[in-house]
Amino acid sequence: MLNFEYYNPVNYVFGRGQIAKLTSLIPKNAKVLLAYGGGSIFNNGVHKQVTDALAGYEITEFGGIEPNPRYETVMKAVEIVREKNIDFILAVGGGSVIDGVKFISAAVKFEGDPVDILVKRIRILDNTIPFGTVLTLPATGSEMNSGSVITIDKTQEKLSFGGPAVFPVFSICDPETVASLPKRQVQNGIIDAYTHVMEQYLTYPHDALLQDRIAESILQTLIEIGPGVAENPSDYKLAANFMWCATMALNGLIQKGVPTDWATHMIGHELTALYEIDHARTLAIIGPNLYRVMFDTKKEKLAQYGRRVLNITETDTEKAALEAIEKTVEFFHKMGMETKISNYTNDYESTADFIVKRFEERGWKGLGERQNITPERVRAIVEMSY
Ligand code: NAP
Ligand code: FE
Repeated sequence: MLNFEYYNPVNYVFGRGQIAKLTSLIPKNAKVLLAYGGGSIFNNGVHKQVTDALAGYEITEFGGIEPNPRYETVMKAVEIVREKNIDFILAVGGGSVIDGVKFISAAVKFEGDPVDILVKRIRILDNTIPFGTVLTLPATGSEMNSGSVITIDKTQEKLSFGGPAVFPVFSICDPETVASLPKRQVQNGIIDAYTHVMEQYLTYPHDALLQDRIAESILQTLIEIGPGVAENPSDYKLAANFMWCATMALNGLIQKGVPTDWATHMIGHELTALYEIDHARTLAIIGPNLYRVMFDTKKEKLAQYGRRVLNITETDTEKAALEAIEKTVEFFHKMGMETKISNYTNDYESTADFIVKRFEERGWKGLGERQNITPERVRAIVEMSY
C-alpha cells in the first residue's frame, strides 16, 4: 500500500428532513449567498425548505449557475460576494452548482487574476469563503471532496482545480431531493459515480486489499440499484443508497494508498467542452475504449473486476478481462448511455486531432496510473469512440 494522509473535514449530514438543520450549521450572524442553478429548486420545493430553515438570515440569491458551470457566470457571483461582504455561501443543487461555488469561494480573495486558478491549476490552500451545500443530484461526490471543474467559455476549455481549502464545511444530503430528478440525470449520476470508482480501481494489481473491496462493493451496489432508481427515483431506499454510493465513490477514501487513472475524465472533459455532451455520457463513451486500448496494462484488474463484481466465471485472465469490458458496455446501455461520439454529432472526424493537440499544448505527455497513456494512445481511444 502506498503512503497516504486522509483528511476530510466535511460534516456530512444525511437523511430525510435534514435541510431544516441549516440554521444549526451556518453561523447566525452570517451574510449568506444562496447559489443555485437553472431553477429546479423552485419546482421541487427545495428552495422553500432552505429559505424556511434560514428565516432571519440576511440572504442574497444568485441563480443561473449552468450545467458545466462557466467561469464567466461564477465571476458575476464573485463580484457580488465582494460588494456585499458576504461571509458564507450555500450551494443548493448538483455538482455544477457545488463546483461553481468552490470556484467563487476560492476566487473572492485570490490575489491576481482568478482565471489563473484554472489555467495554472493553482492549489487552493487558504483565503477562501466558507461554504456549505444542499445536494440535489447524487453523481459527482463534489459534496464531500475538494475538487471542482469549471468551463471557460471564451476558450472552450473545461479545467479542474482544487485544494484543502475548498472542502465544504457541511453537506446536507437528503435522498428525498432525488425524487424530482429527470431519468436522464439519474442515469448520469449512476454512471459518473461508477466511473469515479473505476478510475481509482481499474489500474493494476496492488496490495491495498480493503480499498479494492470497498470499490467493488460500491460498483455492485450501483449495478443493483441503478436501473430501479432511474425508473423510480422516489423510492427512498434506492435513492438513499444511490446518494451514499455517489458520495463514497469520490470522497477520497477509496483512492488512498492506491494508484489512480483519471484519463477517462480528462478525455471526457474535452468532449463536453467541444460538443456539450453530458459529463457522465462522455465517460460512457471513453471508458470502455480506454480499457481496450490499455488492455495489456489493465487486464489483471479487469479480470478481477469481472469475477468479483460481474460474476464472470471464466478462468483465463484475458478472456475474463474482455468479457468484463463487454458486460460493462451492456450495463452502460441498460442505464440509457450511448457509447459513441457519432451518437451526438456528425461532425466528429477531427475530434482526436483537436484533443491530442490540446493535451500536447498543456504538456500532458502521459496520463493514467502508469503515465503511459501517450498522445498517440489518446488518439487511438478517441478514434475508437467515433
Ligand atoms: P448538474 O450539472 O449539477 O445538474 C444537471 C441538471 O440536473 C441541471 O439541469 C439541474 O437543474 C438538474 N437538477 C439537479 N438536481 C435536480 C433535482 N433534484 N430535480 C430536478 N432537476 C435537478 O449535474 P451533475 O452531474 O451533478 O454535475 C456535473 C458537473 O460536475 C460537470 O461539470 C462535471 O464535470 C462535474 N464533476 C465534478 C466532480 C467533482 O469532484 N467536483 C466530479 C465529477 C464531475 P438546475 O440547474 O435547474 O438545478
Ligand atoms: Fe465525474
